[in-house]
Amino acid sequence: MNKFLSKIVYHLRDELYIVNRHGVISYFNHTRSELFGLSLAEMNGRCILDFPIKYSNKLLGQDSLLNSFLLSTDSTAINNELFFENVTISEHLANMSIRFLGIEKKEGFFQVTFAIKENIKQFPPDENKQENGPELKRKSQMEDDRLATLIETLPDAVFLKDGEGRWEIINTAALKIFRLENIDWKGKTDIELAEINIPLRNEHLFCSVSDQLTWDKGEMTKGEEHVPDIYGMLHFYEVIKVPLYHENKARKGLLIVGREFTDRKVLENEHKNDQLIQEQLNKILKISLEDYSIKECLDHILNVVINSGFVNLLNQGGIFLTDESGQVLNLVSQLNLPEVLSGMCASVPFGRCVCGKAAQSGKTIHIDCVNEIHENKYPGIKPHGHYSVPFFSHNEVLGVLVVYLEEGHKFNQKEKGFLESVGDIISGMIIRKNAEMQVREDIRFLESIDRISNILQEKSAHENLFEMNREILNAILEIFGADRARFVYPCDPETKFWRIPYECSKEEFISPLQRDQEYEMKPGFRQVFKNCLETNEPITFEPPLLPELDAENKVFSLARSCLSIAIRPRKGKPWLLGLQQCSSNRVWTNNEKKLFKKIAERYSFSLDSLLLLDELKKSEAEYRSLTETARDIIVSYTLEGNVKFINTVGQLFFGAGDPGHKQKNIFDYVPADHVEEIKKVFARLKEGGMPSRLFELKLLNHNREMVDFELSSSLTRFEDGEMGLISVIRNITERKLAEEKLIQQNEELQVINSELDRFVYSASHDLRAPLTSVLGLINITKEVIAGNEEAESYMEMMEGSILKLDKVIKSIIEYSRNNRTQTKFEPLDMQLIYNNAIESVQYIEGWDKVNKYAEINNVHPFISDKVRITTIVNNLITNAIKFRRDISDSFIKFSFNVNDREGVIIIEDNGEGIPEDKFGLIFEMFYRNSNTVEGTGLGLYIVKQNVTKLQGTIELKSEMGKGSSFTIRIPNNLNNQGI
Ligand code: ADP
Repeated sequence: MNKFLSKIVYHLRDELYIVNRHGVISYFNHTRSELFGLSLAEMNGRCILDFPIKYSNKLLGQDSLLNSFLLSTDSTAINNELFFENVTISEHLANMSIRFLGIEKKEGFFQVTFAIKENIKQFPPDENKQENGPELKRKSQMEDDRLATLIETLPDAVFLKDGEGRWEIINTAALKIFRLENIDWKGKTDIELAEINIPLRNEHLFCSVSDQLTWDKGEMTKGEEHVPDIYGMLHFYEVIKVPLYHENKARKGLLIVGREFTDRKVLENEHKNDQLIQEQLNKILKISLEDYSIKECLDHILNVVINSGFVNLLNQGGIFLTDESGQVLNLVSQLNLPEVLSGMCASVPFGRCVCGKAAQSGKTIHIDCVNEIHENKYPGIKPHGHYSVPFFSHNEVLGVLVVYLEEGHKFNQKEKGFLESVGDIISGMIIRKNAEMQVREDIRFLESIDRISNILQEKSAHENLFEMNREILNAILEIFGADRARFVYPCDPETKFWRIPYECSKEEFISPLQRDQEYEMKPGFRQVFKNCLETNEPITFEPPLLPELDAENKVFSLARSCLSIAIRPRKGKPWLLGLQQCSSNRVWTNNEKKLFKKIAERYSFSLDSLLLLDELKKSEAEYRSLTETARDIIVSYTLEGNVKFINTVGQLFFGAGDPGHKQKNIFDYVPADHVEEIKKVFARLKEGGMPSRLFELKLLNHNREMVDFELSSSLTRFEDGEMGLISVIRNITERKLAEEKLIQQNEELQVINSELDRFVYSASHDLRAPLTSVLGLINITKEVIAGNEEAESYMEMMEGSILKLDKVIKSIIEYSRNNRTQTKFEPLDMQLIYNNAIESVQYIEGWDKVNKYAEINNVHPFISDKVRITTIVNNLITNAIKFRRDISDSFIKFSFNVNDREGVIIIEDNGEGIPEDKFGLIFEMFYRNSNTVEGTGLGLYIVKQNVTKLQGTIELKSEMGKGSSFTIRIPNNLNNQGI
């Protein structure tokens, strides 16, 4: 017996030893000795406290616990890891008080058992091991007891079966496992026990098979067995079976130790499950990150969930996504669903059936049978259960994942957690894919705009509207994957005709309409134009509007959906940009509309500038033709003189059109000695942008001959931004010739004039001499014929005529003297001049009837021409008397004032006055306003001539019937005194 027990204890995997209350070790098993690295003999008799701290640590984890154990005799519990338990052993060991301590490390592998037996203290540590006789027997008996106690106290189930498999010894733990409390098990085999212990029949049978395996192997085996408790719960055991043989190799017995590890098993199972869940989730996560479409992703994910072997027992399920209304679930992905359901569950309103309710409540629903919640039923529906798991984005239900369960499948938190995690992944995937889609759309948007911008930039730079439109339409066609793109002009419901200036289409959808042909406006098209013009947004035309247009114009003969937008350039009428889909009833997305609008906007800008450019080109053409009709040279050139444009006149002149002509710079045509001067002018223009200036210059013609020109220039900026000049260069050769001729003629004329003057002067003098003689003769004759009244009156008349003639001649002399004689400046005595004048007019009739006033301010010297001033004063005073009125207080006022600058003579009368409209005329030669008073019409003319000669001015104020006033201002030639 002892041997069996020793074997049992020896083979236990627990570290087992016996120590007295003083810590002296008296027994420990194989495992313990291995642990300390000491032989059993070396260990024996040593105090547990003697071991180096590392051993005691190894042993107990904490030596303080050991201490506290050793010092206390009846502790109950110290902490979770360390516990004491009082055990009462079978009656023959009743005198022993045993304290039982197990220390179980976390993994459950390191267990220490203390058994302290009160009555073994008589074995001192230094006890002699050489024992024999009755003492040995007693000891052996003691040993037996000790071992039996140990076995009994073990938590492990211990079995000892004989060589035939009959149960010999089992401890209480084993008894309990096999529920043998009321069964007479001793000496029975497992086969026999299977018949008696019915609830554990299978377990007994399994044991017998497993025992046989150990025997077959012939050495210790380790295995796992499980036995249900009375509640049906499985308990798992790690089982060691050690076959024992007699010396003759015959079977002696089978030692079986079973240790329960149900908790660990459960943990392990859970761990495995968790791992499985994690693996599945990882798989699903991976799928969600793949570059699939949402639908593809959902299909794959559903496949993994359903085949995970974890939850879904029926291999059926589906994924719903919430539609735009947010109130309906659409079945997007499904696996193995009965056909009838594809229709029934294709679209499920929130609140209906299990999935609708899950969506509405936002909570996972579990049912284990087709109950009242399961509203979508159909004949022949098989019993099943469900998990319906909603998934979310920002608290909104994105969809529902539904899986099928076997009927009766109980709710399991882990399963729910798993499915909800899948839901989370699906949500994340959808959100991310949508975001990606948005980003992709955005990138496409930007790329498209970029592409359009590039075309516009490039083509508008080449000023080619046709090319630009062609490329733009091609690009638009590609970007949108449409079948046809076109411009229509004008987009105006009021015009009678419209046309298609540009169109691009896929080959199979070439429009039946001719480019640029005029088409008559029909109501349908009018409506399209109107709708387009009413908004800045693109508008769509889809059936049923299309067939109507179809019939009308055959324009949309192939188009099944259209997108159009009005383009409004600043010049001219609006255009229409249209996209057509002929291959399908395309629904244009918001993004597409946005892009289309943006493109139209960009295009509109470029169209604007091209139209303006077109206009500019036209006006440039006009301008060019203008320059061609001009007779002047028109040339534009940079400030460096490089010629940009030159009209035909210029080309002919400079020979610029001649073959081999090299001069391209304006300075090539300028004579060398002019270049610097002109460059200076240009520099000034460049700096200050001085306004155009006319100046004369000589240029070289194609024969390198100098020709006179007059040049006027203005600053301009060329298309390339460079500054330059436009010059109009007029050939002034003829004018120059004419001028020269004029000067020559003038000179000749002057000679003739002075000759004429001299002739008039001498002629006048010559004429006066005989007149004077005639007057003398008349006077003599008067005396001779005195008394003959008739003859006397004839003589009077003769005398009058001759005096008149004399007056004219005198005036002519005066006039010609003014022209002929050089001005002679000298200090003048105006008082004297006035007095002489008054004196000289004494003979004029009525002289005595006029009151004469004079105010002469002679303080300043007045330097002028005496003869001319006298002529002026005389004539004016004469007129004032001549044109007096017959009134009692008629007067003549003479005033003179002088300063450094000028002398001012004012002669005023209150005579008959001069009508205002005659102010200009009276100064003309031979002009007379009055026939009543005799005169020559030369007086004021001579006054004017003299004033002009003296560089003075004459001013007249006069009123009919009131009088006149002449103001004469003559420069005071202080500096020219004596000249
Ligand atoms: P004449 O005196 O010989 O006619 P004038 O050249 O001196 O020639 O004058 C031209 C005309 O101007 C006169 O005929 C007269 O009608 C008008 N006139 C000149 N001086 C005066 C004046 N002081 N008052 C009124 N009329 C005058």
